[in-house]
Amino acid sequence: MSPSSTTQDSVLRFKLKRTLEMLAAKEGRGTELITLYVPPERRIHEVMANLREEYGTASNIKSRTTRKNVQEAIEKTSQRLKLFKEPPKNGLVIFCGAIPRDGPGTEKMEVYVLEPPEPINVYFYRCDAKFHIEPLMAMIRERDAYGVVVIDSSEAVVAAVRGQRMEVLQQFTSGIPGKHRAGGQSARRFERIREQAMNDYFRRVGAHVFDLLGKVPGLKGLIVGGPGPTKHDFVEGDYLNYMLKEKLLATIDTSYVGEQGVDEIILKSQEVLRGVRYLEEKQLVQKFLYEIGHETGLGVYGETQVRKYLNAGVVDLLLVSEKLNILHVYVKCKNCAATEDSLIPQAGFVKFEQDLMATTCKKCNSAALYVEDTKDLVDELIDIADKQNANVAVISTETDEGVMLKDSFGGIAAILRYKAS
Ligand SMILES: [Zn+2]
Repeated sequence: MSPSSTTQDSVLRFKLKRTLEMLAAKEGRGTELITLYVPPERRIHEVMANLREEYGTASNIKSRTTRKNVQEAIEKTSQRLKLFKEPPKNGLVIFCGAIPRDGPGTEKMEVYVLEPPEPINVYFYRCDAKFHIEPLMAMIRERDAYGVVVIDSSEAVVAAVRGQRMEVLQQFTSGIPGKHRAGGQSARRFERIREQAMNDYFRRVGAHVFDLLGKVPGLKGLIVGGPGPTKHDFVEGDYLNYMLKEKLLATIDTSYVGEQGVDEIILKSQEVLRGVRYLEEKQLVQKFLYEIGHETGLGVYGETQVRKYLNAGVVDLLLVSEKLNILHVYVKCKNCAATEDSLIPQAGFVKFEQDLMATTCKKCNSAALYVEDTKDLVDELIDIADKQNANVAVISTETDEGVMLKDSFGGIAAILRYKAS
């Protein structure tokens, strides 16, 4: 199986997640951090007008420092906003505010502009002691979409489901009379007419399902449900496009039709959906395990090995664990400019810096070592992979395979394009 666009998607999500974690950790001195969500259809000049209003309102803030910080943040936000003629296709998010560095009076204005991976639904302006990242977090969690069709002989509904959000795309009625025939009609003729009507109805729904779900980005699968046997006739007959049939995950019995039926399916299909969500991750790690198990020479792991092959440009797929929290620390000597580097767990950084003060340079022996730069190891490896045109998949620990990658292989592995020494 070749890595698809979803592996690149895993990298984007991972980077956004890291950025959001960084933003979540920031706290203002007071209520003075600006969060602004702009939906794609919102006019920039309207948002600017709203910000001018907020600027005016902020002049009533009693504390002089807070007032100054809030107004500065609003100004800076406006400046960044002005760079856009219109919002990008998914809208725009700006975080801006004075963040204290080291106690009161050390605030520095910081501004972050993000383009979300999915369209923003609502306009949102907030001034708070923290940045509001929840709507973006929700987008990372709820990335995959599923199609749901609930069908019985009288009606059908097509819906798209993303996380806990459900959107009904279209509803149909069959117009098929009940099982009781009118007087005078022969039973056989009645059956034939009913069958024909059912066939037309299935065709109509089937064609629309394909059109409707074809427009849903990131569609991972389809679930068909409904009360009674109609759903099976629909699925087994020649009504659904083969591409959708390939994505069929399950048929599920429901007590209801319509929207209620969709809700029922969402409740009943959690396990099915979870499995699909992590299926690709499982398959990618399994491929790596195969190469290792069969000693093909194409599977490599560990930071040193993987980095070596990445730099040599022979990595086809880089696998990194989402739970790998390791910093690559670059240390330099102020006196002789000698450099060295080491890998340390993120949580150990403070201690590392303290220890460094008590350490002397190996070359010139002076106590002049300082941290010149730190990089998140995963980010660093992904950057190399990008330069070398290697595919990257960030693997969660939600599957046995993901846990194995992290615990048994140090969270870093790769599959090579060809055997290399
Ligand atoms: Zn030195």
